[in-house]
Amino acid sequence: MNEVLVVGAGPVGLSAALALRARGLPVVLLEADPEDRERPGSRALFVHRETLRLLDGMRPGLADEITAYGRTWQTRRTVYRGREVYSRTHPPSPGLPPFTSLRQVDTERFLRAACERAGVEFVWDARVTDVRSTAAEVHLTAEDGRVWTAGYAVAADGARSALRRGLDIAMEGSHGEGFHVVVDIADIPGAELPLERVFHYEHPGVGGRSVMRVPFTGGFQIDLQCRDDDRQEAYGSPEAARRWLPSVVGDGYAERILWVSTYRFLRKVAASFTDPHGRVLLVGEAAHLFPPFGARGMNSGIADAAAAAKAVAAGTAEAVADFADVRRAAALFNSAAAGEALDHLRPRRRIVRARQRAAAALAPVLPWCGSWLEHAPYGPRGGAPVAAGGTY
Ligand SMILES: Cc1cc2nc3c(=O)[nH]c(=O)nc-3n(C[C@H](O)[C@H](O)[C@H](O)COP(=O)(O)OP(=O)(O)OC[C@H]3O[C@@H](n4cnc5c(N)ncnc54)[C@H](O)[C@@H]3O)c2cc1C
Repeated sequence: MNEVLVVGAGPVGLSAALALRARGLPVVLLEADPEDRERPGSRALFVHRETLRLLDGMRPGLADEITAYGRTWQTRRTVYRGREVYSRTHPPSPGLPPFTSLRQVDTERFLRAACERAGVEFVWDARVTDVRSTAAEVHLTAEDGRVWTAGYAVAADGARSALRRGLDIAMEGSHGEGFHVVVDIADIPGAELPLERVFHYEHPGVGGRSVMRVPFTGGFQIDLQCRDDDRQEAYGSPEAARRWLPSVVGDGYAERILWVSTYRFLRKVAASFTDPHGRVLLVGEAAHLFPPFGARGMNSGIADAAAAAKAVAAGTAEAVADFADVRRAAALFNSAAAGEALDHLRPRRRIVRARQRAAAALAPVLPWCGSWLEHAPYGPRGGAPVAAGGTY
């Protein structure tokens, strides 16, 4: 009964399982989906250096494996209404890169293989529907009636977490208006676009909406910021994406679309990261939801996972309470930082847009204006312990 239950085989649950195995604990990972499931789209692309270090601590060599596959670029550019206002090319840094970019499905593939090598026991087709905790243990019940009992459970079952709901823990925060569209596109072999991240403010090709292009292994992601009154069908369907894509990336890509999705701006943090008995620890999107700019979701989720494993291995009420306090503080920091990024990306007040316009005009003579335009979309960096997030 000293085994630990982890619920959810997303990137955070897989990391929690790996971190628990690294501490010598037996792990049973319960996942609702079947073993041969297909996970969609690129979603969280960035794995930050801090996260790579955490993963390497869980499984030595894993960071090298992921970075060998992912892409790291040295050049970042910012464009304002068709005119470049910032461009920097940094020399490669020794050791681990500041980040690596790969589709979430690939990150999960590496994590899952590492879990299998580390002896995590996977139970697929196990949708947990009920949770009960006592002072000494936790009982989980699946929809088909199977029951598991353990000293601790790590809830990594995502944004609609059944465990969080079962424990009646509220999500607190806000959701912004509007949405953005995420499109994954495969490279044209032999004619790949330059390996750089480009943020384009008020792109003239899409009616002045802002667009970001981010490479990943095998292709790139286009992120289109829609306006609050845009209709989802006008921008967010595959047919719509095929219409507007050529004016953003040129011809030849409309038929290379791999995935199109829309994404809303939620900023929510669970009222508590544990149940009253300290037997269930909430991590990842089960505990917090952030808008994607700054890459805070998956990165901070993996930091939650590492902290949860440490607390469970310590096995004391104090360690679990400490996990809950520290990771909730990190989530609140991330939520505030994401809010700052959103205020810049989706300005509510005219003055913000006017400031951006002025900075773009002054950037050729005052480089710090270009630098501000480059960095502001991602919000402030660091802050709370292993909060994750920052410019990429
Ligand atoms: C459309 C979309 C676009 C995104 N784009 C970005 C992006 O551009 N950048 C970014 O940083 N992040 C992005 N994200 C967010 C990112 O995908 C998440 O931060 C990340 O997946 C969180 O990982 P997780 O492991 O906490 O949750 P999830 O990845 O949601 O994993 C949860 C797992 O739990 C399983 N599960 C759920 N309920 C149960 C249950 N009751 N019992 C058992 N298992 C269960 C699920 O099947 C799943 O495997 C995006 C998300 C979406 C949906």
